[in-house]
Amino acid sequence: MRAPVVLLLALCSCTEQEVVLPKVVASSDYIAYGTWADTSTLCMNERLRQWDAFIEEISSTLEISPPSSKIRYTWVPEQFWSAERWGCSDPRRGCFTGFQQGIFVDDFENMHEIVHAVDFSGLGGGHPILREGLAEFFGTGRSTEAFVTDFTDRFMQLLSSTGKPHSPAEYVLCMHFVGSIIERHGISLYKEFYAALDRDSSPQEFEAAYQNVFHEDLLDGLLDMSSLAVTGQFVPWPCLEGSDAEVLEWTGEGVLRTTVHGECGDPHFAGPGSVPDSFGFIKHYVIDVEVSGYYRLTVNGTDATAPGLLAASIQSCPAIPFEILVAEQSAPHEGTLAAGRNMLTIYFPPTAALEGDAELVLEFQHSGAP
Ligand SMILES: [Zn+2]
Repeated sequence: MRAPVVLLLALCSCTEQEVVLPKVVASSDYIAYGTWADTSTLCMNERLRQWDAFIEEISSTLEISPPSSKIRYTWVPEQFWSAERWGCSDPRRGCFTGFQQGIFVDDFENMHEIVHAVDFSGLGGGHPILREGLAEFFGTGRSTEAFVTDFTDRFMQLLSSTGKPHSPAEYVLCMHFVGSIIERHGISLYKEFYAALDRDSSPQEFEAAYQNVFHEDLLDGLLDMSSLAVTGQFVPWPCLEGSDAEVLEWTGEGVLRTTVHGECGDPHFAGPGSVPDSFGFIKHYVIDVEVSGYYRLTVNGTDATAPGLLAASIQSCPAIPFEILVAEQSAPHEGTLAAGRNMLTIYFPPTAALEGDAELVLEFQHSGAP
């Protein structure tokens, strides 16, 4: 009876040790969500619907079926971290471990890991460069601009050393490779290449498969990719065309001064569970900025605001230069915003009533550098 035991051990992934999972507190068509945070402030239904829509969109882009079983998704906030609650081999990086234990993340929302689950379900996982590149290309909105120069050398170095990205920069190299292939050759050929490799393929097998599928030398292909940056395909929900996010209007010349209220059930409001000394809820809004320049952002509590962390951030939607401006309660902050559609996020303190209030002021300072 020894052989079957050995076989079972060989089949199971080594990262799947004994892990304690929290109970599922919210679920949707594709996600079963649990967290070690305090779930008395949970409000995740709308957010899980958005994740579902994301999963369907990625599946359709990859021309595969969405996962047929729910993806177990566990948020482990830093304060609640312990080895037996964390299913990933790297204590500092989230992961998708398979459909049994699912996804572990340290920030409650992580589209990169969700792409892994969709990819694994439909394409069976694959070479780490392709897997991580795909997760970055569809799960982030970043540009690979800074990685185009020297791309060929840096990519070949990654391929011939471990063939597996570790540093953030190596993740961007993988994303540039995958995004460039998809944009130049389309999904079908990309999938053919993906299927020709497995997780342990050698650099020589990688090069041969590339040559077979794309009928060009890998080095020529890489050189060709070294002229044009690619941009990740993920678009934050409020920035999406036809999103029902509330638009905050300017109230005076270069001034937006308003009281915002959010509660569970509002569009783009989410409560992933709360953690001591942190926010309990987030709500996204949209602000249309007319003039690029320097702005001052202030967020304060109202009489109705609960004690706890209150903060605001404004960041560019895709298609305009990336800028981000963050302010905490009673600590105004100044910085650059780009003209066009921007996403405002308010971080409300946790309350049993699942709602939050804040005073928000955004003031134009000047159009030049500070
Ligand atoms: Zn990954």
